[in-house]
Amino acid sequence: MANCAIVGINWGDEGKGRMVDLLTDHYDIVVRYQGGGNAGHTVINEYGKFALHLLPSGLFRPGVLNVLGNGVALDAENLMKEIETVRAGGVNVSPENLKISCRASLLLPWHRELDELEENRLADRKYGSTKQGIAPFYSDKYAKKTVLAGELLRPDRLKSRLAGLLEWKNLTLERVYGAEPWTEARLWDWIGTWGERLKPFLADTGILLQNAARDGQRILFEAQLGTLRDLDLGIYPYTTSSNTIAAYAPIGAGCPGVGTDEVVGVCKAYSTCVGEGPFVCEWFGEEAEKLREAGGEYGAKTGRPRRVGPLDIVATRYGVRMQAATCLALTKLDVLSYMDQIPVCEKYLVDGEETGEFPLPMLLDEARPVFRTLPGWKEDISAVRRFEDLPEAARNYVLFVERETGCPIRYVSVGPERDSIIVRPV
Ligand code: GDP
Repeated sequence: MANCAIVGINWGDEGKGRMVDLLTDHYDIVVRYQGGGNAGHTVINEYGKFALHLLPSGLFRPGVLNVLGNGVALDAENLMKEIETVRAGGVNVSPENLKISCRASLLLPWHRELDELEENRLADRKYGSTKQGIAPFYSDKYAKKTVLAGELLRPDRLKSRLAGLLEWKNLTLERVYGAEPWTEARLWDWIGTWGERLKPFLADTGILLQNAARDGQRILFEAQLGTLRDLDLGIYPYTTSSNTIAAYAPIGAGCPGVGTDEVVGVCKAYSTCVGEGPFVCEWFGEEAEKLREAGGEYGAKTGRPRRVGPLDIVATRYGVRMQAATCLALTKLDVLSYMDQIPVCEKYLVDGEETGEFPLPMLLDEARPVFRTLPGWKEDISAVRRFEDLPEAARNYVLFVERETGCPIRYVSVGPERDSIIVRPV
């Protein structure tokens, strides 16, 4: 039985949530293995429209077990609020269908505060953080200065560990940023309000997943963001602070011996990017506004208008390689239906030379896109369900991306709804 990772090929927001929502039907367990509440998956199904931030997208399927692995930034406050929102939509969320790793580190309230303080200090040099505390959280995790969720089960030990962390963190808050210190009472109040509510969900999810895999259950690993935001392989420093690539999935899920047999790379039919950082094929002005409107490109978490541009083949090919994608899901093809001609960025011009390879991040600022144009189809394709029923120009667009990336395109998505999908036998 194949385990599968669903990952973003580009900058994130490719439509991973809708692909997980579609494919969870074939899986017993869905695991989030990295990141926190700093991005959003939009899922539209029979319960309505949801923006998920930390919760796995398998929650909408009865019988599917959902897991938050050790690799996530466990923000108890945001998670509990998100659970309430999803429950209000009639979706069952309980310790029966949601398990949280005891090994997940806790995102503490000062992480969000520090994110804000640092972005304010940087002013116009800011990284474009969503201010959810992710970078300070992962910095502290790697510096061994946070606590594991399982420590909530040992309050005495937790109290002394947190007292030490409080003393250390206040040095930074007060002396570096001139901010208010945290008090033990305030911290315990937060733990009592939010941390306590995690307890019923805590489990040794590593063992659970290893046993499930041994027993032939199928596991779906769900990533947040995309290749270009991967801490090691992305557009550093404009990356996130965790690893978004599929190879990290078994580690962040706590079951390193459980491999991913399939990697579905989700790739949008054009490019979008939220936040700061180099974006070689970015469009501006009216052209950009038209595409943004057509695609409804506003951040699920922040509502920020996304930066948009034509499909970037150079970045996409790199994304496919870094994700070791076994197939692609090309999403939002319907959005391009308004265009007479569809430009795609085929190469970059770097240091006066054309290249098809994605360069080092520092060279991206000076890289210039080399476009070619493909014919548009100018008709509504949102009701098409078979590849052969797409207009010829739309089929050719898909085949062009397949050829250029060297990766079979198994899914073509033509609308946000669960069934707006074309499945190709590749
Ligand atoms: P994720 O973080 O990768 O899950 O992506 P987001 O949820 O941030 O962004 C994807 C957006 O596109 C959501 O609003 C989806 O409902 C929407 N969407 C996904 N696939 C399609 C599609 O094929 N066509 C259209 N028109 N919208 C889509």
